[in-house]
Amino acid sequence: MKKIALLGSTGSIGTSTLEVVRHLPGQVEVVALAAGHNTTLLSSQIREFHPRLYHSLHTDIVDSAESISASLQDIVTDEEVDTVVVATSGNVGLEPTLVALQNKKTVLLSNKEVLVMAGELVTAAARKSGAHLLPVDSEHSALWQCLRGESGGVRRLLLTASGGPFHHYPVEQLVGITPAKALAHPVWSMGQKITIDSATLMNKGLEVIEAHWLFDTPFESIDVLVHPDCIVHSLVEFVDGTIKAQLSQPDMALPIQYALSYPERVQGFLPPLSWETLRTLTFEPVDDKKFPCLRLAREAGEAGMTFPAVLCGADEAAVSLFLQGRVRFTDIASIVQRALDAHKPVSHPDLAHILEADGWARTFAASHDARRQFTSSGYAENTQEI
Ligand code: MG
Repeated sequence: MKKIALLGSTGSIGTSTLEVVRHLPGQVEVVALAAGHNTTLLSSQIREFHPRLYHSLHTDIVDSAESISASLQDIVTDEEVDTVVVATSGNVGLEPTLVALQNKKTVLLSNKEVLVMAGELVTAAARKSGAHLLPVDSEHSALWQCLRGESGGVRRLLLTASGGPFHHYPVEQLVGITPAKALAHPVWSMGQKITIDSATLMNKGLEVIEAHWLFDTPFESIDVLVHPDCIVHSLVEFVDGTIKAQLSQPDMALPIQYALSYPERVQGFLPPLSWETLRTLTFEPVDDKKFPCLRLAREAGEAGMTFPAVLCGADEAAVSLFLQGRVRFTDIASIVQRALDAHKPVSHPDLAHILEADGWARTFAASHDARRQFTSSGYAENTQEI
């Protein structure tokens, strides 16, 4: 029986995790739940799963008589908890992940910014305590499954990308994309920030950095392939020319269940792929001139230091400005590029340096909006320079 603490229980991955738990009776016990602002859903989760501990940013939790309010620190260090599922987003999961690994808890990580921003610290903490760090991201779960049982001989990792909704858009039309259009992802249903990141391909860029740290693979051996069908979730190419791939329905329940049941593989509740209806699988090269965020992420990952933290902070702020209609779709990459250019990096950063760089980048990115508010010129003209 796995005894889990679920951080980010009301988000997209959090609710999918609880759906998997419902389908694994007697195999997973929910010891703790933590969520941000959605107290209504958290209250109902508490009533259903009866965690001993819960954490909420608000106090108006109802019917929690049998559950005790606790800090994130208390939850991830709790003796009964053996597995911490980090399903938060942004920089929120950073510190709890580090503390959990230091306390030798198995960490199931879906919060990709944690590895992107602090890959060196996080992997060092896991190595030092001997804790397992397991991916809950469809591409990384696929790579992990392809690599299990192998002992080297890898030529390259191939991450697949859906290409997002604008893969076939002419580049000159990208500038006019509205938030509503960008939020309509063709395959995956996800939170708003990651959906925009999928449309700009920043999400794939973050996943390249994530793969670098998870599988200790140099950046030049990690490539991206557009695969709009979202059936092949990633591939590993070996030195003898063999390629292994993982195929399944595009549903996060599968990578979540695989990580929860590891090292076992157990009966799932998703239907298998139907070979009767599956006729073709298509793959195309990625156009990183059209989607510069992928290149920016790769460059930030290769440069290391505090650059990946700036990448994350600037992107989150720029995506937020875009969702509010304050900057254009194509400004997201420009703002991130400017933040990276202006940043003074710190090498081998500790947690404080990383959070400082992230905060600096957010302020830097937000200033692009503030500057516009003080001008009387029109939106289009004024955003030209961003
Ligand atoms: Mg992914």
